[in-house]
Amino acid sequence: TDKSIAFIGLGNMGGPMAINLVKAGFRVQAFDLDASACDRVTEQGAHVADSARAAVEGAEIVISMLPASRHVEALYLGSDTAPGLFDGLPVGILVIDCSTIAPASAQKLAAAGKLHSLEVLDAPVSGGTAGAAAGTLTFMVGGENDALGRARTVLESMGKNIFHAGDAGAGQAAKLCNNMLLAILMIGTSEALNLGQSLGLDPTVLAGIMKVSSGGNWVLEKYNPVPGVMEGVPASRGYSGGFGTDLMLKDLGLALEAAIATRAPVPLGGLAESIYAAHSAAGKGGLDFSSVIGLLERRGS
Ligand code: NAD
Repeated sequence: TDKSIAFIGLGNMGGPMAINLVKAGFRVQAFDLDASACDRVTEQGAHVADSARAAVEGAEIVISMLPASRHVEALYLGSDTAPGLFDGLPVGILVIDCSTIAPASAQKLAAAGKLHSLEVLDAPVSGGTAGAAAGTLTFMVGGENDALGRARTVLESMGKNIFHAGDAGAGQAAKLCNNMLLAILMIGTSEALNLGQSLGLDPTVLAGIMKVSSGGNWVLEKYNPVPGVMEGVPASRGYSGGFGTDLMLKDLGLALEAAIATRAPVPLGGLAESIYAAHSAAGKGGLDFSSVIGLLERRGS
């Protein structure tokens, strides 16, 4: 295919996702504010542009993978200092935002897109940086059927499971439910592994047992928080890369905001938010969220 795709945001997730599009044969015009993030994708054959506006030049599809709602809204709708990309994109362009942002923010983008005759999908992902690199992400898509039809081959170049969650914002709604559960699972799994270690168990042995027992979960299978138990996970490289504690905290904020708005009780989600906030306040916001196990560790004897 000779389709051009603009890709904005080349961080831990966006970088490997953009590279998979290059591998699938798309022409990728990439941009990130961070030069080293740009260099990583240039090496793999993406074309790096000088600005987001230059990246979307001639592209049929625009994909974004940015930290939070405010970055995505500033990119497309503009800010005090710069106009947004929606002003100036040719009619009919498909915009796919893969960042995890507020459902209300995704709906706002979709409505603004409609005014500019653009198709807009929210398509947040799950699967972590390993899933991004392997092209096995799960996409949770909100928006119109036709737009998803147009996006499908592109999404399939980066992911394995593509779900239509519902209308605009529904992808984000699914994502914040999933991540609230992941936040809780990471803390619960860390507690169990710490308790096991204080009982004298080898964490690798304990993880092997629990993985195939009733406590089995994604954290034990793919993302063990104890250094040295699993290769290729953040815990085994000083909690670098991966999914930042502050990004998890952002997602829990979105979940709690939604819970308050709908009067849904989420007691463990609320507790998890407090625990990651304390971890971040202790200076760990930039480390992978699995480092939260350090907050729960028994110190001394
Ligand atoms: P990251 O911090 O590694 O990357 C974000 C990138 O966006 C950075 O390179 C930054 O320089 C760039 N950026 C910020 N503002 C920009 C702008 N205006 N223009 C261009 N580039 C800009 O974050 P990440 O881990 O890649 O996560 C991205 C999104 O995906 C977040 O919403 C996160 O919650 C979500 N997510 C992350 C994971 C994960 O495991 N890391 C998994 C699923 C979803």
